[in-house]
Amino acid sequence: MAQPINDNAVTNATLDVQAIRERFPILHQEVNGKPLVYFDNAATNQKPDTVIESLDNYYRKDNSNIHRGAHTLADRATAEYEDTRKALKDFVNANEAEEIIFTRGTTEGINLVVQTYGRMVLAQGDEVIISAMEHHSNIVPWQMLCEERGAILKVIPITDEGEIIMEEYLKLLSPKTKIVATCHASNALGTVNPVEEIIAHAHKAGAKVLIDGAQSCAHLPLDVQALDVDFFVGSAHKMYGPTGTGFLYGKRELLEAMPPFMGGGEMIKEVTFEKTTYNDIPYKFEPGTPNIGDVIAFKKAVDFINETGKETIAAHEEALLAYATEKISAIKGVTIVGQATHKVGVLSFVIDNLHHFDVGMMLDAKGVAVRTGHHCTQPLMARFGLEGTVRASFAVYNTKDEVDTLIEGVERLAKLAN
Ligand code: PLP
Repeated sequence: MAQPINDNAVTNATLDVQAIRERFPILHQEVNGKPLVYFDNAATNQKPDTVIESLDNYYRKDNSNIHRGAHTLADRATAEYEDTRKALKDFVNANEAEEIIFTRGTTEGINLVVQTYGRMVLAQGDEVIISAMEHHSNIVPWQMLCEERGAILKVIPITDEGEIIMEEYLKLLSPKTKIVATCHASNALGTVNPVEEIIAHAHKAGAKVLIDGAQSCAHLPLDVQALDVDFFVGSAHKMYGPTGTGFLYGKRELLEAMPPFMGGGEMIKEVTFEKTTYNDIPYKFEPGTPNIGDVIAFKKAVDFINETGKETIAAHEEALLAYATEKISAIKGVTIVGQATHKVGVLSFVIDNLHHFDVGMMLDAKGVAVRTGHHCTQPLMARFGLEGTVRASFAVYNTKDEVDTLIEGVERLAKLAN
């Protein structure tokens, strides 16, 4: 457990939360007459000044189509776009920048792998393994492909605390397993999965692994080479970056062997009406004009995480989570859903005799933004016999005072209802 936090939620000497907050303009507003307390960070987190300025700067100064241009603006935009790829290569410790493919986000990254690698390897009777805590975007695309191919989707069960049952996973693995796809961290429970172990066992069985990093990129150390993961996906908007962009990391030999995901300009070497030869990676997977301005601003988000320090961010969020967990679990009539030993800053809970949606509305009246519902994890909610939960999720700019506002609100509501 992390150390207790002081009044300013400054968890260590290197993190000045108030200075960080100054860099997030959106935080400085009132909602329903109260200061905004933003705890919906697992859905999307807020953007620092440098990301916002980058978007503004791009459209004011650099807007131009990339890669083909013979003029200065196109050269500038291309260089900045490719700089983001290099920054992401370092961020996940890929071997080469060409192993980073820009996508619209995690959902598109998973669909890309399903529709290319998945289609290449999956035949009738083969198996794909996912976990019981997956987001719909790491369930439905696999389900669609399995249905089409006559393959079988198997699910690793979880404990009441919300942790993967490793013995059950090992029992599911077999020579029929072609792909294992799990989240690094659960968006609904906060659980951090033992992905190193999951990957090592899958490889022993001859399967490839996709890790959904939507909830880990901004919080956990990442090293795709040390993990030996085959595919890793993430979304910029959950990393203090813009919406509409994200990335897929894939090992070079796999990306080279895979067919393209979509056809169009830029992903080709030569086109005739008889035959098309495809471009090298990463361009083979980036047809059409990409989301240039957002990709360029994505680098500023990566820089923000690097400069703040992932360990520092994680320690701060862990301290907020520990404090909130202790206080909220002590409130009569409140149950925390997901009590794994290793969690990111996600606190899911239900209040007896109150619908999660009503809790969300009543907290919003106090300026507190939380998410309510099934969090795109309906099978996981069913596992806990729930329709949904209230979810507070923390980011580097949140403070202990803000957690106190949440606790007061939950206390009041639980008392009213019980
Ligand atoms: N996977 C997980 C674990 C998520 O939390 C999310 C979004 O909440 C996604 C996938 C989908 O991400 P996106 O909507 O950015 O594609």
